[in-house]
Amino acid sequence: MGNIREIVDKVKRRQDITLEEFRMIMETASKEEMDYLASTAREVTDSIYGKNVYVRGLIEFTNFCRNDCYYCGIRRSNKEAERYRLTEEQIMECCQMGYELGFRTFVLQGGEDPYFTDDRICKLIKKIKKIYEDCAITLSIGEKSRASYERYFEAGADRYLLRHETANECHYRKLHPAELSLENRKRCLWNLKEIGYQVGAGFMVGSPGQTMETLYEDIRFIKELQPHMVGIGPFIPQHSTPFKGEKAGTLEETLKLLSIIRLIHPKVLLPATTALGTMHPMGREKGILAGANVVMPNLSPVSVRKKYELYDNKICTGDEAAECKNCLQSRMEKIGYTIPVDRGDSQLP
Ligand code: SAH
Repeated sequence: MGNIREIVDKVKRRQDITLEEFRMIMETASKEEMDYLASTAREVTDSIYGKNVYVRGLIEFTNFCRNDCYYCGIRRSNKEAERYRLTEEQIMECCQMGYELGFRTFVLQGGEDPYFTDDRICKLIKKIKKIYEDCAITLSIGEKSRASYERYFEAGADRYLLRHETANECHYRKLHPAELSLENRKRCLWNLKEIGYQVGAGFMVGSPGQTMETLYEDIRFIKELQPHMVGIGPFIPQHSTPFKGEKAGTLEETLKLLSIIRLIHPKVLLPATTALGTMHPMGREKGILAGANVVMPNLSPVSVRKKYELYDNKICTGDEAAECKNCLQSRMEKIGYTIPVDRGDSQLP
């Protein structure tokens, strides 16, 4: 039995972790050891990003989805979801508001909505880029063909978020219906990388069927893919999905995973997610203090916020964009961090 501090130091030095070490860290519960893990990861982040925490303005522009992922509140079979899609004008207004508030990255996220054809997406990207040429555009609109990803990139999209959700085949089957495949999801990520996007992969913590082994496979997959960003947040059940009765992921596990990812990928962009903020009132602060360096406040119009209900009790659904930004800014300042007016590009090649 090694001592946890020694393991943490070793993982940091090697920038890699064995299954054994991973288990030891994940299974440790002592407060001192968890604090050591978090502060070591935070030091690594500070050494690269200093006291900067980057923001991305999240625009949840449609909750129509052709997919049926068992965990997700906007899955097509959820008849209780009140569907909406923002107009181009509404999306442009979100960007304008965001720009005035100092955002230099816009994340367009949505379900896989057939209304938003490649033509419409490209038109939108060009329009945003034309006005806000100093801003990065991130897409998070699911699995598309390589040709579609190429078109968005040519139109000016810079980044793409596509969580792999789990790198384990059996686990993937538990979370998704038969028409979706891990093979395709991974292929999408490789295509995105090859095309030249800054890519974000990631997974939920505590999703039904997840084990230490599947989590370790996630870590191996991330090592292999070398994404620019890794999105990790707790799974939170949504009341009208098949997983409504399942247990949520925990704050502690999520924090440990954030720290581990930071230790083995010092330069990676690591968001303290809204789901983490939903699990605990200080979740996002704790995430930053465990090594995260990105926050993604919501820029969507308040009228649609509650409808983009991926999981229950999502925070900030009643706040205007400015309130969200101010709230996060003061939260970050209270723990010694600042939010620069900056695209916050990845430092990875
Ligand atoms: N359609 C896009 C965007 C999906 S929503 C895509 O396929 O990538 C963004 C992320 O929210 C998902 O990748 C998933 O990891 C997360 N999510 C969905 N349902 C959730 C839940 N119940 N709890 C926590 N996170 C959830």
